[in-house]
Amino acid sequence: MNFVEIIARRRDGLASLPGDLAAVAQGAADGTVPDYQLAAWLMAAFLNPLNTQETAELTLAMAQSGEVLDRSGLPHPWFDKHSTGGVGDKTTIALLPILVACGMTVVKMSGRGLGMTGGTIDKLEAVPGFRTDLEPEAMLDLARRTGLALSGQTPRLAPADKALYALRDVTGTVANVPLITASILSKKIAAGAECVVLDVKCGSGAFMSDLQAAQTLRQSLVQTGEAAGLRVVARVTDMDQPLGAAVGNALEVKEAIRVVQGAELSPTEARFRDLLLEFARDSLAVAGIDADPAAAIASGRAAEVMRQWFAEQGGDGSVFESEDWAVAPVQRTLTAERAGTVAQVSAHGVGHAVLNLGAGRSTKEDVIDPRVGAIVHVAVGTRVQAGEPLVTIHAASEADADAAGAMLRQAIQMGEAEVAPRPLFLDES
Ligand code: URA
Repeated sequence: MNFVEIIARRRDGLASLPGDLAAVAQGAADGTVPDYQLAAWLMAAFLNPLNTQETAELTLAMAQSGEVLDRSGLPHPWFDKHSTGGVGDKTTIALLPILVACGMTVVKMSGRGLGMTGGTIDKLEAVPGFRTDLEPEAMLDLARRTGLALSGQTPRLAPADKALYALRDVTGTVANVPLITASILSKKIAAGAECVVLDVKCGSGAFMSDLQAAQTLRQSLVQTGEAAGLRVVARVTDMDQPLGAAVGNALEVKEAIRVVQGAELSPTEARFRDLLLEFARDSLAVAGIDADPAAAIASGRAAEVMRQWFAEQGGDGSVFESEDWAVAPVQRTLTAERAGTVAQVSAHGVGHAVLNLGAGRSTKEDVIDPRVGAIVHVAVGTRVQAGEPLVTIHAASEADADAAGAMLRQAIQMGEAEVAPRPLFLDES
């Protein structure tokens, strides 16, 4: 296979020949195609996007570029879930025990955060003792015994995505719908999924802020996933304001526990629960299971599953008894200077303030402080009186709290007029 010809065909906008896309995926995975040729092909594919059939072919080739997790022996359907990432998005941590309580078996690989969007693995590692480094065999064994296992990503699955994503990151070729689609779905197929639920975040706290682009990605994920033999539900959801109240690793786990335990929730937390229950219903529908996720919470069954899950992965069970763990030394509440309506709670602004507090990484080497973050008390449209709390900062030092306070004052904008919040689900325009 002459790789120069493969690049030239893409450059000229010609249809790929059988084997072209497999050569890209395999060459990326095993290093036999040099980075400069892969980068040239990626730019050609950016400028002349793959069609649905080609995207499905690339997806399958990337999925088969390494091992494929063999879930044989686990009950069907083999399910997975993915979010494109946002601020305060702790959905996976609460969703999985609810689904297992409803009769599903879930094996999931999750990622770390980079930049302002957090990652499930970093959040769970805030729980003392929680292990996220399970090998695939250990995950399968755990899921077989308990119905639920979650681990960080392994380089053994979809190695082509790791290589291509690293090149896209440094060649200006990330923002391309077919390439994003293949990247996301290849990892799900390699992880052995046969049905997937996808959350395409859209707004200032997501990597896609344009609604039309997010809807195009949603459509591409559904069409390509189905062409690759998956059952897919994909939704576009709002990320103009943070999801729920908590932003920051331990704080988000505490919120997920509260929701799963059926605790009384603030209005911002209730917005997270609304999204969670909708995704739970979507997941059960795509899996063909007739069960009520709200009942799984109300009966205490979901909380029971969550406790067992944490215990099996080494997590300290006392996190279910009190919120007095991983507590930041400085807590400071900002209050409204005057009465009004909350016009904006910028997910981008809150995300960056929390990132600067130490809850995320600006480079891969940065070390996360699990204790820090923010609890947002208001949502867009909330009426507040002067002196009412807007946000509570959890910081490692007074100086950090000062800096975050200035950023959060900018992020939360007040107005006089009534404001209708953007809907949580933005699937159709
Ligand atoms: N998330 C992924 O996994 N891949 C992309 O290309 C973009 C977002």
